[in-house]
Amino acid sequence: MSFHDVYNQLNPDQLRLEINSKQQSDVEVALAKTKLDINDFQALISPAAAPYLETMARRSQQLTRQRFGNTMQLYIPLYLSNKCTNICTYCGFSLGNKIRRKTLSMEELDQEIAAIKAMGFEHILIVTGEADGTVGMDYFREVMPHLRKHFAHISFEVQPLDQADYEELIELGLNAVLVYQETYQREPYARFHLRGSKQDFDYRLDTADRLGKAGVEKIGIGSLLGLDEWRLDNLYTAFHLDYLEKTYWRTRYSLSVPRLRPCEGSFSPEHPVSERQLLQLICAWRLFKPELEISLSTRESARFRDNVMSLGVTTMSAWSSTHPGGYANRDESLEQFSIDDNRRPDEVAVAIREKGLEPVWKDWDTSLSA
Ligand code: SF4
Repeated sequence: MSFHDVYNQLNPDQLRLEINSKQQSDVEVALAKTKLDINDFQALISPAAAPYLETMARRSQQLTRQRFGNTMQLYIPLYLSNKCTNICTYCGFSLGNKIRRKTLSMEELDQEIAAIKAMGFEHILIVTGEADGTVGMDYFREVMPHLRKHFAHISFEVQPLDQADYEELIELGLNAVLVYQETYQREPYARFHLRGSKQDFDYRLDTADRLGKAGVEKIGIGSLLGLDEWRLDNLYTAFHLDYLEKTYWRTRYSLSVPRLRPCEGSFSPEHPVSERQLLQLICAWRLFKPELEISLSTRESARFRDNVMSLGVTTMSAWSSTHPGGYANRDESLEQFSIDDNRRPDEVAVAIREKGLEPVWKDWDTSLSA
C-alpha cells in the first residue's frame, strides 16, 4: 500500500466539480464544526467561501494560538548548489538557463554556517538543485557533520532519494525532508518538467512514503501555487496528508504554500493566485488540520507576511538568499527566484513581536524542551 493506491482512485474532473459546486450553506456547515473532514476542506477552499474570509481568519488565528501558543518559528534556507540536470520551466536553476553554477566547497560551507549562526538561527533548511553527480549522497555525507555540529534542526529540500539513503541521512542527523509534488496533475506536470529525473512523477509521488518508512521525524508536502489549479492541487495534498497521517502516525507534518515568483527565464504562472486566495487557503488548512505546521517563505512581500503571520502560519523564513554562498557573500545573479521580503532576521523578529508573537529560533521540539 502506498499513496499511489489512493491517488489512482481520485478523479480530478469529479473533484473539480465537487469544489466548484459547493454552496455557502456547505461553508457554514464546515465553519460550525470543530473537527473537519475533506468534504469541509473542499467547501473552505471553494469560491463559495470567499465572502467568509474574515470569519475563517478569526477561527484560524484562534486555533493556531491554541495549538502553537504566541510563537513563530524562524528558519533560514542554505543553498549548497545551484547545479541542476533537470529542466523545469518555472525555475531559475533550470539546466537551460545561463547562470553561473556553483556548489559550495566545505570551506565555503563553513563560511556560510558562520554567517548564519551570527544571525541566531538554529533551524536550517538545506536546498540544492538536482544534480546527483555533484550533490548526491557522497556530498551529503560530507556536509552532514558540518551541519550537525552547529544546528539544532536540519531539514532537506533536495532531490527525492531512496529509502536507504534517507535512513543513512537520519543516522547522520537529518530531522526533516520537504518534498513538494509541484502539481498532482500528470498532464501539466509533464509540460513543466521537460528533462531529467524530476520527470518521473511516480517516483516523486512515492517520496513521502519512502520517508515515512525510513522513519524521518517530519515530512513537508505541498504544491507550487500557480502551476495548475490551486484548489484542486491542495485538495490532492489534503488526501495525501490524510493518508500519510494515518499510515505514518509517528511522523510530524508541515505544509508549504509557495507561490510562483519571477525567475531567470521569465516564466509567468498560468494560474496566478491572489493574496486573498492565498489567505483563504492558509485559513482553510488551519481549520482542517489544527496541528499542522504551515510555513510562509520570503517569496511573499513583507507587507503580506506581516498581515497574515498571526492568522494561521507557524513557521517563517527570513533573510533568504537562494544564491549558494549568499550569506557570506551576497550575489543576486545566482538566484533561483526573486525574494520579496528582503528584511534582515532582526527586522523580521521585530515585526513578529509587534504582532504579539515571540520569534523562536529553534525547532518546536527542542525549543519546548529547552
Ligand atoms: S525546480 Fe529543482 S529540479 Fe527543477 S530546475 Fe529548479 S532546482 Fe532543478
